[in-house]
Amino acid sequence: MNELLLFFREKLTQFDIRPPDNVLVEEIQYLSHLFSANQKTNLTAITDWQEAIIKHLIDSLLIVKTDYWQHAEKILDIGSGAGFPGIPLALCHRDREIVLVEANQKKAAFLHQIKDLFKLSNLRIISDRAESVAHCRQYREQFHLVTARAVANLPTLLELATPFCRIGGVFIAYKGPDINEEVITAQVAFEILGSEFVKSYAFVLPCGKGKRNLIVCQKIAATPEKYPRRPGIPNKKPLI
Ligand code: SAM
Repeated sequence: MNELLLFFREKLTQFDIRPPDNVLVEEIQYLSHLFSANQKTNLTAITDWQEAIIKHLIDSLLIVKTDYWQHAEKILDIGSGAGFPGIPLALCHRDREIVLVEANQKKAAFLHQIKDLFKLSNLRIISDRAESVAHCRQYREQFHLVTARAVANLPTLLELATPFCRIGGVFIAYKGPDINEEVITAQVAFEILGSEFVKSYAFVLPCGKGKRNLIVCQKIAATPEKYPRRPGIPNKKPLI
């Protein structure tokens, strides 16, 4: 544990992210639970500790380096899977209200275990599809920040995420190194949904683990009520 803690702390410091050691320990404990649960339920393809620290924990936390993190009190993460990026953020920032929307029941059950284990009273887990949740008054247009990592292409994501954002709020998509074409393809979706591309943040992950782009999409007008369309449609027939 000590070696992993040192590794984690050193790599995070490279990004000038400095959570207290007790939080870093919790983050590593979370990975440990993930690895145990992964033996029964398929939750992650990554089984190496250092790789998981970089590609799961550090990658999830990079969003705190954007200009949009500081004022994001209410955050929603779509398609959290085993919890990325939502759980690492919730462990580091217990003052933020974070909602995870995950359609897969087994993954949502794991997220509930983690919430209970770490007493994350700032976390709410919804086991349902984003297409349905986005039509609930309680969640629609309520969030300062919406996130999604490895869930769908940008036009589909915009349809799922934009309805949750407040006007002036942002959706930040975790994407790989090549984003230009995806942003261009999403122009129709931006216009229909009342959002616009603002900027992207580029990061290089430690130890040659790849490049990460965070694409910032800001909501500038109310999203028409008909969006998102029925479950599965945003993916099958993206707004392009
Ligand atoms: N975000 C996590 C990560 O980066 O490790 C999980 C990525 S996994 C490839 C995609 C997840 O999104 C799956 O767990 C899937 O069940 C969930 N998902 C896909 N479409 C969804 C939707 N429309 N609503 C809610 N969850 C969805």
